Amino acid sequence: MSNPQKRVSDFSEVQQPYTLEQAIEEARRCLLCGTPVCIDACPVQMDVRGMCEAVSRNDLPTAYRRIRETNALLGVTARCCPQLQGLCEDACVMRWAGEPISIGMIQRFVADWEQKTSPQPDPACANGTGKRVTIVGAGPAGLAAAELLTRYGHSVKIYDELPFPGGTAWYGIPDYHLPKDVLAYEIDRIKKMGIAIKSGVKVGKDITLSQILSDEADCVLITTGAWDPIKLDTPGIDLQGIYDAYSFLRSVFINGVENYLKNPEYDLGKKIVVIGGGDSALDAARTSKRLTQGDVTIFYRRTENEMPSDPIMLQEAKDEGVQFKFLADPKKYLGSNGRVSKVLMSTMQLGQPDESGRRKPIPVEGKDFEVECSSVILAVGRGPNTFLSKQAALKTGKKGAIDVDDRFRTSMSNVFAAGDVTTGETLVVKAMGSGREAAQRVHEYLMGIEDKHVSLYERYFVQRSFEAMESGSDKSSLPPP
Ligand SMILES: Cc1cc2nc3c(=O)[nH]c(=O)nc-3n(C[C@H](O)[C@H](O)[C@H](O)COP(=O)(O)OP(=O)(O)OC[C@H]3O[C@@H](n4cnc5c(N)ncnc54)[C@H](O)[C@@H]3O)c2cc1C
Ligand code: SF4
Repeated sequence: MSNPQKRVSDFSEVQQPYTLEQAIEEARRCLLCGTPVCIDACPVQMDVRGMCEAVSRNDLPTAYRRIRETNALLGVTARCCPQLQGLCEDACVMRWAGEPISIGMIQRFVADWEQKTSPQPDPACANGTGKRVTIVGAGPAGLAAAELLTRYGHSVKIYDELPFPGGTAWYGIPDYHLPKDVLAYEIDRIKKMGIAIKSGVKVGKDITLSQILSDEADCVLITTGAWDPIKLDTPGIDLQGIYDAYSFLRSVFINGVENYLKNPEYDLGKKIVVIGGGDSALDAARTSKRLTQGDVTIFYRRTENEMPSDPIMLQEAKDEGVQFKFLADPKKYLGSNGRVSKVLMSTMQLGQPDESGRRKPIPVEGKDFEVECSSVILAVGRGPNTFLSKQAALKTGKKGAIDVDDRFRTSMSNVFAAGDVTTGETLVVKAMGSGREAAQRVHEYLMGIEDKHVSLYERYFVQRSFEAMESGSDKSSLPPP
């Protein structure tokens, strides 16, 4: 980790990389299990075991080729995945023998080596099929789907309404966690595989799904993410100086922090209150701390134990001087001259578990208190993006998520959907996994082989990775199995 006192004055990357010696030493700890549960726990079935085996003997090209097979955003996911929270490192058997293998750090080492010193070939693509797919949304789900469909030989175009591809990984995840050059490099590599990305096109407004299907594509895959902020009706919520965390982060990162600083859109002041308990609350707090050097306090209605955030990011925020106040929930926003100046908070206590399984916070009578502030940032969650589903009258389900069947088909013919727009906000790697599963279904539909479906785990791990590694025949990249 970089020094918290120094790093809080800029947006440089917090996590420091491994050296080659550290990467090899860590990879050698891998037991090369016969049943590698880490691969099963990775939503894109990345060949963790094959990576460790190759890195342990300092064969970085082989390590890269093995993991690039199913993961087109290697440097991104190495940094963004909360590996210990239900992902690869959580599953690693070495966890029970002390420390799990630091899979993310080894993966980051291999990805950085490839990006900075030794560009490697892209995975191979099958011959062209003549089939055309348009994807709506260039976030992690759309990019991962585009890459797999291209490898199957289909012609792929992506529309995105914003100026840069990357979705929330570009506009939401701060540079200190995911440097933009890492994301830009990996997107550029995906584009160079032959994928056309048209930015600044809002599907549903500039072009409709029906037009796309009649003019330019055999199938459409919607991956428009979770972008609808949850609306609160707390009294005083419309006062000036109360901001939505996602719009704030987007404004800071859309054209780069340097550009934002030349003309800051948000008047935060020096006493900033952040409401929420997830990673977005941490990111809003840490970003505003870096921009203002002011007092930043996160108020969360449950306790630290219930926070739905990555414990590593929580510790980083604490180290940087972000303050926390638990069991507190805004009851009313108070202002002077139309601008927020105080928040009336309810003191909360935890009751019985609610539908989320967590204990429900309940206000304690007579224990309200006031907090002075110069601005408030609300990071209370986002729901699925409903713009396109409303415009195209697609069937939706819980919280407006696009309804898909087990083949990722929507209620409209030849239109599929995947990623956070079908689930609500998840993770970069989970959205990628969903995008890849949907791409597999689109491919099977286009080729008329839907009844021969084989899961990606079966295809990439059992058929390719395992047998190829065991037999030593994985010497070159092949089209997808
Ligand atoms: C502040 C914040 C921090 C996060 N930190 C992490 C983290 O550290 N690790 C992690 O794994 N995950 C993190 N996430 C979650 C992660 O970013 C998302 O789960 C992931 O990006 C979802 O991918 P997606 O492709 O489904 O959607 P998105 O990434 O949201 O991409 C959707 C894309 O669709 C485009 N679009 C939408 N509507 C249209 C339309 N009508 N026409 C054309 N284009 C359209 C959008 O412009 C966007 O580019 C974070 C999220 C936030 C908000
Ligand atoms: S992509 Fe994420 S979950 Fe998968 S192996 Fe890499 S760090 Fe682990």
